[in-house]
Amino acid sequence: MTKCLLCGRYYTAKLSFTSLFSISKCQEGGICPNCLSKFDPVPAQHCPICYGKAENNELCLDCRNWRQLYGNDLLSNQSLYLYNAAFHDLMVNYKRYGDYYLSYVLQTLCSNQLNKIKADLYIPIPTSSEHIAKRQFDTISAIYDNLVPLTHMLSKISGFGAQGEKNRLERLASKQTFFVKENFKVDRKSYRVLLLDDIYTTGRTLYHARDALKKVLPNAKISSFTLCR
Ligand SMILES: [Zn+2]
Ligand SMILES: [Zn+2]
Repeated sequence: MTKCLLCGRYYTAKLSFTSLFSISKCQEGGICPNCLSKFDPVPAQHCPICYGKAENNELCLDCRNWRQLYGNDLLSNQSLYLYNAAFHDLMVNYKRYGDYYLSYVLQTLCSNQLNKIKADLYIPIPTSSEHIAKRQFDTISAIYDNLVPLTHMLSKISGFGAQGEKNRLERLASKQTFFVKENFKVDRKSYRVLLLDDIYTTGRTLYHARDALKKVLPNAKISSFTLCR
């Protein structure tokens, strides 16, 4: 029996042949079918660039917006779940109340899919130092740290407020606050870079992160992964 990380009930986890022989990082617990059913996976029909809502696999509104700014150099993003009420509650408890334990839930929700994406550098979106001080941990790194080797290359200028506290227009108008840490040693070969964040809302944060990275890694192939879209 496995204890569900979210509701605490015991359930029988389906064991695959390989999981009998490998020690999974999430073996202490999983998410029971009932809790899992509250999360909405991104449907098969989605924007081919960012996994957003779109009809007939056409570009979503956000990507059409970004096309005006970036032309065809759009950021290819993969997301797993839609931002529904269950996800909202999970993220509020995780971020607002600093519930570190929920990082295991988020890891369980994304580990299989993330393991399929191969990159040379996995770069988390940095949390501002004020937020780390408030919650005592970095909410993005805490999700991905156990799953892939992280390269903490980006930093954030403090004092600009969190994207989560802004409305859509304020988010889109927000200025670049990311920079590559000084003296960060990378050779400039072409790299496959995967940016990691929790939620893709307008894309503003991830495009800013890509802009900052491109200054030092002009040949990198940069894409992104988020739990939610
Ligand atoms: Zn449960
Ligand atoms: Zn899109």
